[in-house]
Amino acid sequence: MNVNQNTKLNLVIGHPLTHTQSPLLHNTIYQNLKINAVLLAISNHDLSSLVKSIKALSVELTAVTMPYKETILNYLDDYSPEVKTLRAANTIIQKNGQLFGYNTDIHGILYAFRDIDLKSKTVLVLGAGGAARSMGYVLQQNNAHIYWMNRTPKKAEILAEQFGGAIIQQSYLHTIFPDIIVNTTPLGMYLNTKESPLPGFQFNPQQIVFDMVYNPIDTALLKLAKEQNAKIISGLEMFIGQGLAQIELWTGQKIQTNQMLSKIEILLKSVNRP
Ligand code: NAP
Repeated sequence: MNVNQNTKLNLVIGHPLTHTQSPLLHNTIYQNLKINAVLLAISNHDLSSLVKSIKALSVELTAVTMPYKETILNYLDDYSPEVKTLRAANTIIQKNGQLFGYNTDIHGILYAFRDIDLKSKTVLVLGAGGAARSMGYVLQQNNAHIYWMNRTPKKAEILAEQFGGAIIQQSYLHTIFPDIIVNTTPLGMYLNTKESPLPGFQFNPQQIVFDMVYNPIDTALLKLAKEQNAKIISGLEMFIGQGLAQIELWTGQKIQTNQMLSKIEILLKSVNRP
């Protein structure tokens, strides 16, 4: 990458930022599309000083990650209807000194399911945090029938109220037959790669299993589902999709991914090996 006086600076902000793959994803796409920009990771415990830096440096695109996806709303001049519903943003676009918030996790989910019709499907969602809320948003738009299962049932109840669906406990899972199972918990993530939200579960070959965890790519949940011939979708798909949407919002142009995708996948897979 040739950095020169015209190179634009984009950022990813969070705290801590030890595991972010956003620089690798963005910088690979910039190189492939010949966009003269670089995305760097900046971590600080004080969000207001990060926002001051974004303004002072006229940063046009900022990716926002944990734990700032919700608190960043206090610093935005305006945000998209999705952000309003989810009360969380993962993208800031700066225009004329104004900060606009977007939530491209939704685009990431749609990208992961680009070959699958979600309309009226029965979906079991494991977990009830921020990522589950984005999933609930997409499922509601598709009139899906949702079952929510979470360690803290109260949080699942709140999501069921907002996006529809019913609560289910682990001991009743054998009574339902979801078309799709989605893990939105961090169970199975590096350093605890042996963990699974559904250890020993009996999948069927008609089921689709989507794990939002993308480090590692072949989680214990996905390995078991694959062994039992279920269709699997990796969290890497969502991660790539949310990043592509961030760049599209910034450039205002649709990205043609055809040749670039496999290159990005290979790169991310190679760094995500625990
Ligand atoms: P979050 O808001 O902290 O929510 C985490 C959820 O997982 C909560 O419902 C929590 O249950 C549950 N959970 C956590 N530890 C658990 C455990 N040991 N046993 C059972 N349940 C547990 O986090 P988030 O932002 O939703 O992110 C969740 C995961 O999605 C992370 O792994 C993140 O990396 C991934 N993610 C991936 C992408 C992508 O692009 N692929 C995008 C966003 C997020 P309680 O309610 O009981 O606390």
